[in-house]
Amino acid sequence: MVKVDVKYTKLFINNEWVDAVSKKTFPTINPQDETVIAQVAEGDKADIDLAVASAKKAFHRYSEWRKMDASQRGVLMLKLADLIESQARYLAELETLDCGKPIKEAEEEVYFSASVIRHYAGKADKILGNTIPADGEVLSMTLKEPVGVCGQIIPWNYPIPMMSWKIAPALAAGCTIVLKPAEQTPLTALAVAALIKEAGFPPGVVNVVPGYGPTAGAALTNHPDVDKIAFTGSTEVGRIILGAASVGNLKRVTLELGGKSPLVVFNDADVEKAAQIAHAAAFANAGQCCCAGTRTYVQSGIYDQFVSKAAEIAKKRSVGNPFDDVQQGPQIDKEMYTKVLDYIKYGKESGAKCVAGGDKMGNVGYYIQPTVFADVQDDMKIAREEIFGPVQSIFKFDTFDEAIDRANDTNYGLGAGVITNDITTAMSFAKYVRAGSVWINTYDHVTSQTPFGGFKNSGIGRELGEEGINQYLEVKTVTMALPKKPQV
Ligand code: NAD
Repeated sequence: MVKVDVKYTKLFINNEWVDAVSKKTFPTINPQDETVIAQVAEGDKADIDLAVASAKKAFHRYSEWRKMDASQRGVLMLKLADLIESQARYLAELETLDCGKPIKEAEEEVYFSASVIRHYAGKADKILGNTIPADGEVLSMTLKEPVGVCGQIIPWNYPIPMMSWKIAPALAAGCTIVLKPAEQTPLTALAVAALIKEAGFPPGVVNVVPGYGPTAGAALTNHPDVDKIAFTGSTEVGRIILGAASVGNLKRVTLELGGKSPLVVFNDADVEKAAQIAHAAAFANAGQCCCAGTRTYVQSGIYDQFVSKAAEIAKKRSVGNPFDDVQQGPQIDKEMYTKVLDYIKYGKESGAKCVAGGDKMGNVGYYIQPTVFADVQDDMKIAREEIFGPVQSIFKFDTFDEAIDRANDTNYGLGAGVITNDITTAMSFAKYVRAGSVWINTYDHVTSQTPFGGFKNSGIGRELGEEGINQYLEVKTVTMALPKKPQV
């Protein structure tokens, strides 16, 4: 077992490391062997109150942060990105320990996170309003201003990237932040918090409060001094957050929720390549990906060939200790492990044909075999609900319209993919599928520059790119009397 030094386990409030007011702690568990990695300070309402007060003070109109030149905000962010990269191996090891993802992927995610911070660093001094030729004897303009104190609640599947997607646009916009990491993976958020302090951000600009959802998360969501909540996680909790925001101070809300994304393969595709893309779409991050392409629709002409190729690739997928050179580690925790195994059981019971995997692996740690179901029908539970594990469902279709109708027959709308060599088929699919991201002959290609988010129950708002920073800005219209014929 690789030994990783856990340096930070306290709450990070006002650039200080503090115990929870209650002095309570909670264990964070290693999904490889189910042992306790560390006890972490358990934030609750009292700690959220302190963190929000600190963020509110840092947002005061004459605070160091608010008086800072926008370009200087960008400079601090660039420093943070450099510091994150300088610690890439350590952060990746900590992530692998806490989250179970393969070390190589954890390291790539650290570099991706630094790139997101750099992207938004460049935007900090390019937040522009408009001048408007308004009716009347006036001159009008818009100012784009930071939305204020932001509560950011993140999940456990991509802890460092999710933190960067949340803090980077908020910092570029000039907001202040209270971030609550997922209770399963609090360690890397705290390690990044240490780098935020080292980069020179003033106290209170970023606060990190680990804790549970119904306590710390709910306190943040309900806090009257929080102006915006940005959340990534389940649709169920997304609804709670939207409800809380609507009865309280009408917080701005952005939600990045679940999915059940389709990937459609047409007859003209190269079967080998298509099966590889579909495999990566379904199994990336052990299937714990909100935009995972878990519904693979294959046109009837290549269906049988595709199914045997998909099964062959899944059977070869290497699963094991995530510190080794493997493609898949354990699932995040016992709850998700049990939930995924239950879905596999439903799949078998409902008559879908299990052509690869279909069981747990070993007796220690939350390992599950890469599982492929063929001949899946649209009304089966495994076809309709988000499994969030290493399970691919394959469906047969005949015509383009049938594929579109069935791809869209879901309450979700996060991602969608199409594999074809015909440009009209590809672009028609992109036009008619109802999803926030459409990938053609690739899947899950997410970058700092391209907006990401969902239609329907998959969320509200977008992260990344230009849309991502707009979600942290308020638009203020300023109108000044200006006679058309001055009396001078
Ligand atoms: P979750 O939605 O319960 O947790 C996500 C975050 O929300 C965590 O930080 C959690 O502490 C917080 N939270 C939970 N309840 C809260 C509340 N009442 N108020 C405020 N914050 C709260 O997700 P989960 O239980 O970890 O996973 C359950 C399902 O969510 C998964 O099966 C999967 O379908 C989905 N999920 C989606 C994503 C995504 O990227 N969209 C990520 C993780 C999980």
